[in-house]
Amino acid sequence: MTDTSKRGFRTKLSHTGRAGKRVHGFVNPPLLRGSTVLYPTVAERRAMGARRGERLLTYGLGGSETHWALEDVIAEVEGGTRCAIVCSGLAAVTTPLLAFLKSGDHCLMPDSVYGPARSFCDSVLRRFGVETTYYDPEIDEARIGDLIQSNTTVVYTESPGSHTFEVQDVPAIARAAHARGAKVLMDNTWGIHHFQPFLHGVDVSIQAATKYPTGHSDVLIGCVTVNSDADWHKLHTTVRGLGQYASPDDCWLTLRGMRTMGVRLAQQMDSAMEVAHWLRRRPEVKQVLHPALPGALGHAIWKRDFTGACSLFGVEFRPEYSVASTHAFVEALELFGIGASWGGFESLALPTTGFVTRTARAAKFEGPLVRLHIGLEDVDDLIADLERGLKVLRDFAR
Ligand SMILES: *Cc1c(COP(=O)(O)O)cnc(C)c1O
Repeated sequence: MTDTSKRGFRTKLSHTGRAGKRVHGFVNPPLLRGSTVLYPTVAERRAMGARRGERLLTYGLGGSETHWALEDVIAEVEGGTRCAIVCSGLAAVTTPLLAFLKSGDHCLMPDSVYGPARSFCDSVLRRFGVETTYYDPEIDEARIGDLIQSNTTVVYTESPGSHTFEVQDVPAIARAAHARGAKVLMDNTWGIHHFQPFLHGVDVSIQAATKYPTGHSDVLIGCVTVNSDADWHKLHTTVRGLGQYASPDDCWLTLRGMRTMGVRLAQQMDSAMEVAHWLRRRPEVKQVLHPALPGALGHAIWKRDFTGACSLFGVEFRPEYSVASTHAFVEALELFGIGASWGGFESLALPTTGFVTRTARAAKFEGPLVRLHIGLEDVDDLIADLERGLKVLRDFAR
């Protein structure tokens, strides 16, 4: 048998999780919907129920071929052993936190973490007796080591950080965590496939598959991938215990999206780099927060650990421009929608200044921030649109 893990990214996306011989030769797995699964006899039903841990059609919550195909593609792309599909990207953040933390434990979170993850720590986890400390995302091995207590069981990472794009030294953080017996969880939504989590010391990789995997801004779904049987057992017990489930329709759409994700990512990365380079030369812009840009914040670690980039990045305008002027800027854009989320085929622009919470270290930004997502439009049209927006920004300031 060929070792499929050695295949290229796009080959994996095309060939993993296919229907095989089971479905009359159709290329794709079937969309199986259902809760109840019927058996001819009581004995056969009981025998199936006793075969724990296997992929069996016993009840809808356990998933079906549609879920399993998606699980296999994600696990292969992430480079792990097993993947669990959950109902949203946020559930992919919260479910492993619940799986790997217990009352009395301590959790370390980067200060740049996705906002709703922070809210979950400060509300639900706190209520269940888990204490969270926020750390400087650009921390080094010695300093994170100093923050790890005897009851620290989870060191969480997200690289680059939400809205502010700090790149974390994940291998160094993982070394410090593992030396003290803590698990490393990572939100790898931005790095998708360009960052191989398990080769860099991560134990649990989180994907908001809502973003590039679905690719069409029409599905909410999340994935959690692990790389050992023991971690799978912990994760799976919590996934099932919480009744976590994603509809087969959404799994099917995500699987369909993933077949073309390789070409979308490549195109969107190229377009985003072109736009980022153009913005960097603009007098209105103080800095472009895109780790793949030479000289940008986090570029050295990005170059060491990532094989590519996605099409989400930030722009810091010069401090003389007000937050209100950046609102006028995004409202003047015709091709960029104003909205949350990213990873779809369409471009988006979002002022993010008010969304940056910091408790470990003051944010370094002096000017207002806007986050851009570059879609599949023609890049010349996007640049012309931004040029029009920048004129409105300048006129507003006058
Ligand atoms: C969008 C996002 C999530 C949450 O995904 P949803 O499907 O919207 O719940 C988690 N982490 C990151 C980094 C995200 O961008």
